[in-house]
Amino acid sequence: MKVILPVPTAQRTQMIDISHEISRVVQKEGWQNGLLTVFVPHTTAAVTINENADPDVQRDMLYEINKVIPFDDGFHHFEGNSAAHIKSSLFGVSEQIIVEEGVLQLGTWQGVYFCEFDGPRQRKVWLSFLKNTVS
Ligand code: ZN
Repeated sequence: MKVILPVPTAQRTQMIDISHEISRVVQKEGWQNGLLTVFVPHTTAAVTINENADPDVQRDMLYEINKVIPFDDGFHHFEGNSAAHIKSSLFGVSEQIIVEEGVLQLGTWQGVYFCEFDGPRQRKVWLSFLKNTVS
């Protein structure tokens, strides 16, 4: 059974560190050793793992991705949010994280980021845990 984590966003494009919220779910569910899938069920958002020490990294990532894929570039899609669809596919909608003794195994400078590309909206992240049955 998946757990649904609500993620409200506040800006058109935004990276939100959801590492602590994910850790809280892992602890609450008693997930100990295995593989956690973090899945974003949206077509204009994504999830990525990157530096959580200097907030300028997220600023620079959004700055550059918005330059590479401009909001308006003569796209045909009637909703007018093709840039967000493209960014979603480039970043990807899932990550897998090893869990050991209930702790997310992330590198020292890594955080899990929800990436909003067409906000602000009420978003969700799905979490699913695959228990390690071999030691
Ligand atoms: Zn669309």
